[in-house]
Amino acid sequence: MTDMNLVPGQVINTIKENLAHVRERIRLACRASARDESSVRLLLATKTVPADRIRVAVAAGETLIGENKVQELKQKMPLLEGLPVEGHFIGHLQTNKIKDVLKYAHCIQTIDRLDLAEKLDKRLQFEGRSIEAMIQVNTSFEESKFGVHPDNAYDLIRAVGKLDTLKIKGLMTIGLFAAEAEKVRPSFALLRSIRDEALSEGILPPEANELSMGMSGDLETAIAEGATIVRVGTAVFGKRIYPDSYYWNERQG
Ligand SMILES: *Cc1c(COP(=O)(O)O)cnc(C)c1O
Repeated sequence: MTDMNLVPGQVINTIKENLAHVRERIRLACRASARDESSVRLLLATKTVPADRIRVAVAAGETLIGENKVQELKQKMPLLEGLPVEGHFIGHLQTNKIKDVLKYAHCIQTIDRLDLAEKLDKRLQFEGRSIEAMIQVNTSFEESKFGVHPDNAYDLIRAVGKLDTLKIKGLMTIGLFAAEAEKVRPSFALLRSIRDEALSEGILPPEANELSMGMSGDLETAIAEGATIVRVGTAVFGKRIYPDSYYWNERQG
């Protein structure tokens, strides 16, 4: 079922070419902002992408994948077992899915409310371990997007920081979804300024400096604004049949 040979050769080639192209875009964007290439990691947003296609990307050297739905994470991670892959959770997390997400995710990027963090902490204490986490901030002020309101981000970071089982790595945002990449820049700049202030105030520990932001259409802008993780789906795996609102909006999700 996960045999890469079942992926048509044309699709394998397309994924590899797309990856090379995205890698080149990242390289150029880093150069343009005089950043070291190794300061930006590529996370593949693999929603709706079958495991055998993900394996193609892994065979090409990719190691980070992000899933939006616990069900998909749960289904695919076992099919990728034994591969050097880190699964991140990048979707809206409901508290009734905590056990499963903890089983399969290496990092939860979407901590956006304290009750969620506390429930994760409780479960992790029970399991006697910790997990990497990021705080999701709603930098676009759109109601349909999840994430803590920027005004409340510092309080949330401080509170989550007190939970030993959640190792905060930094901040994540989706940003304003716009046809023009330039329109999203203020979202990314806002996330960076929240991180910088939280670091300088000591609310975030020095090592929690990650910024997960930027997607297929705007990764250059995100890198210019300081992204350390860009999350790319379409540019590698092609268009999805579901609109993103299906994944980003609770009412439809
Ligand atoms: C789908 C998704 C991405 C990637 O979007 P593309 O436009 O396909 O690159 C990034 N982040 C999140 C949270 C997503 O749901």
